[in-house]
Amino acid sequence: MAKNLTTREEDYSKWYNELVVKADLAENSGVRGCMVIKPYGFAIWERIQAELDRMFKETGHQNAYFPLFIPKSYFSKEASHVDGFAKECAVVTHYRLKNAEDGSGIVVDESAKLEEELIVRPTSETIIWDTYRKWVQSYRDLPLLINQWANVVRWEMRTRLFLRTTEFLWQEGHTAHATKQEALVEAEQMMNVYSDFVENYMAVPVVRGTKTESERFAGALETYCIEALMQDGKALQAGTSHFLGQNFAKAFDVKFANKEGKQEYVWATSWGVSTRLMGALIMTHSDDNGLVLPPNLAPDQVVIVPIYRNDEQFDAVCEVSEKLMKDLRSQGVRVKFDKRDTHKPGWKFNEYELKGVPLRIGIGPKDVEKGTVELARRDTLTKEFVDAVDVVSKVKELLEEIQSNLYKKAFDYRAEHTTEVQSYEEFKDVLETKGGFISAHWDGTIETEERIKNETKATIRCIPIEGDTTPGTCIFSGKPSERRVLFAKAY
Ligand code: AMP
Repeated sequence: MAKNLTTREEDYSKWYNELVVKADLAENSGVRGCMVIKPYGFAIWERIQAELDRMFKETGHQNAYFPLFIPKSYFSKEASHVDGFAKECAVVTHYRLKNAEDGSGIVVDESAKLEEELIVRPTSETIIWDTYRKWVQSYRDLPLLINQWANVVRWEMRTRLFLRTTEFLWQEGHTAHATKQEALVEAEQMMNVYSDFVENYMAVPVVRGTKTESERFAGALETYCIEALMQDGKALQAGTSHFLGQNFAKAFDVKFANKEGKQEYVWATSWGVSTRLMGALIMTHSDDNGLVLPPNLAPDQVVIVPIYRNDEQFDAVCEVSEKLMKDLRSQGVRVKFDKRDTHKPGWKFNEYELKGVPLRIGIGPKDVEKGTVELARRDTLTKEFVDAVDVVSKVKELLEEIQSNLYKKAFDYRAEHTTEVQSYEEFKDVLETKGGFISAHWDGTIETEERIKNETKATIRCIPIEGDTTPGTCIFSGKPSERRVLFAKAY
């Protein structure tokens, strides 16, 4: 099977779109900006969900579910929040259709106009804080540590599969605390949970940091984020965690009686990652042959492909393969045995290469005779013959090696594409010729940030938590700078 993928060198963006479709991850739908996530893509998303959900529960959170619709009046209670989201809201105005009188089809029934319009949630702070008012009376009711897995809608103008869609799947954590300090610790903790997950499961290195005022979430006092670097030198915001102060508590009148019996407003956080993580995964590791999945996240870590010419050979090969599958499963390895007789081995080899399965095992009649199997690595595209008795331990060793190899490759790429610059000339030159993260001094003003963005399209991705904190001079204005920040062109 020819893959016929556009190469990354030829056209990175085209390569990405083709890969998503050909690897059977997702496709465009009849609805503008909304995608269909196909079973293989959804299996990867389910792995993301499963590991994150475990990590949320290990840090004391519980899942709940809130409505898809938010009354318009709730939405406008927090001023900066509504300002930030107003431009991308889908609004429900009617609740009934009818046959047109002239027989031209179905039309909206104007007599079924909603008294109060409903917003399809772009994020759920407002409806959740309206609910928290009923849940919180005393300090004994705190903290509330809630997460929701849901879909949200933001009317994005320029959409791309997984990276930016109008409807997307995500999780949103919403926590309520008695003190500012506790909420700050929570927001930072969840950024760390995200970076832990993204680095150790997705094998994607990230920079942890805080957003500048202009890049902050609408309604937040501080936004913590993790930023990743893609193979084309552009940055991707992979997750955010917000310290919301008492803004939502004040807007929705959520107060509690403290230990002294005095009424206080509650402190809040919210945090989310979305199906955009799928985009980060694809763009960090994949190559011109297709998807490359890190073993810790791959739905199938190993695929066994039987090679045979006749029924007799098929039976012999199947017997060995099925035993191997059981042995691997008993060791916790996720393995698939593809014994379909509708496709040739060569077709299957290509298919699993395109789908990024970390290890492929080929077993033919000669292998059965000699007591060997052929092991092929997706990350390096190398093959070796291994004694059948050693396969299980070899597979486990290789899965670990592939996981760390992928992380290291991405880490080295990022290191090579992170440049410290001293002047605006150098900044523009690096941005044009090399891309990547640029560490530069900035005077801390929105005006400078805005002008750099307008002139170069680069934005401040974050103020890194670990990084150079020596003061200097702003590359743009020449004014004093407290510390270096990270710029990049971003998705
Ligand atoms: P926010 O609520 O804006 O902080 O976003 C929460 C998470 O969703 C972040 O990780 C964003 O990168 C991601 N995200 C925001 N908008 C979209 C979109 N249109 N499609 C996919 N993911 C998104």
